Amino acid sequence: FVINGIPVFVGSSIGIAFGPEHGTDGEQLMKAADIALYAAKTDGRGCARTFNRSMLLLLEQRENLRRSLRTALERGELYLEYQPLIRPPASVIGFEALLRWRHPEVGIIPPSVFIPIAEADGLMDQIGRWVLEEACRQALTWPSSLTVAVNLSPAQFLSGTLTDTVAQVIDAVGIRADRLELEITETVLLEKTIDNIDTLNTLNVLGIRISLDDFGTYYSSLSYLKNFPFDTLKIDQYFIADLETDLKSQTIVRSIISLAHGLGISVTAEGVETSVQARWLIKENCDCLQGNFLGRPLGAEATSDF
Ligand code: C2E
Ligand code: MG
Ligand code: MG
Repeated sequence: FVINGIPVFVGSSIGIAFGPEHGTDGEQLMKAADIALYAAKTDGRGCARTFNRSMLLLLEQRENLRRSLRTALERGELYLEYQPLIRPPASVIGFEALLRWRHPEVGIIPPSVFIPIAEADGLMDQIGRWVLEEACRQALTWPSSLTVAVNLSPAQFLSGTLTDTVAQVIDAVGIRADRLELEITETVLLEKTIDNIDTLNTLNVLGIRISLDDFGTYYSSLSYLKNFPFDTLKIDQYFIADLETDLKSQTIVRSIISLAHGLGISVTAEGVETSVQARWLIKENCDCLQGNFLGRPLGAEATSDF
């Protein structure tokens, strides 16, 4: 459809249920079809799925997780790990805080599984505030030259209270603002309902550093680099993983480094797993390295020894 001169596209996902095996009345059948529709959407949309029992099981598991996530924070089940950020050849300049959930029955659940649920349920604002405070308190136990990086979710930007929250937390904890680095992804910037640049500029004025996480995999819009006050650009591990063999990845990484340096932005490579990757990145003047080769995410107590 063309609406006011703008082409708008409509797609569809389809959930299918059959009677009588999936339900004997309208309500049951619609419920089964709805579960199948949910599966079609999680399978990438634009497809059709027929209901089966295992879908119900998956949905139940997700519902269970959703319910227990509501109380996870109060019960102290959330905790942070810290992954070192290394300036070549071997100085630790700080750590990135990474959120984990120790579920009493399921075990440790990674953020990629529960953060989307927390976001959908409106819990991420509260969890994000806890992460910020916990990470800042932890950083106070380190030498004062070390920074702590905290990931922000789009939900925290949308709440409209982010700058107040950050200011309150650094004040309450008593940490220098320049020891805190906030990591955002481009999805945050795509959200047009709030004035992102205003928020970032306010954070910048407070003295907090801002990095653009997972660079290279979303839109990688250059206008963001022109308009936002980034201190660091983190190259997504997708480009680092095959750096040893893939000439295209090498060219892309080299260009990102040169682009960032031209704009006065520091570059961090994520997901460095081998010494060959590390050496190549150092040769290309990458400012900072992060990855399992240099140090896996550590429990809070292990950071001092590291
Ligand atoms: P990210 O911010 O890009 O974090 C880097 C991810 O790469 C982490 O996964 C880390 O454990 C993993 N990683 C580090 N080195 C290597 C390596 O050498 N090889 C490989 N294959 N992976 C490596 P993790 O901890 O599962 O976190 C995934 C994502 O979840 C993060 O990506 C971040 O976007 C999000 N996240 C984590 N903690 C938080 C948080 O407190 N708040 C928010 N909003 N998001 C968070
Ligand atoms: Mg990050
Ligand atoms: Mg990343």
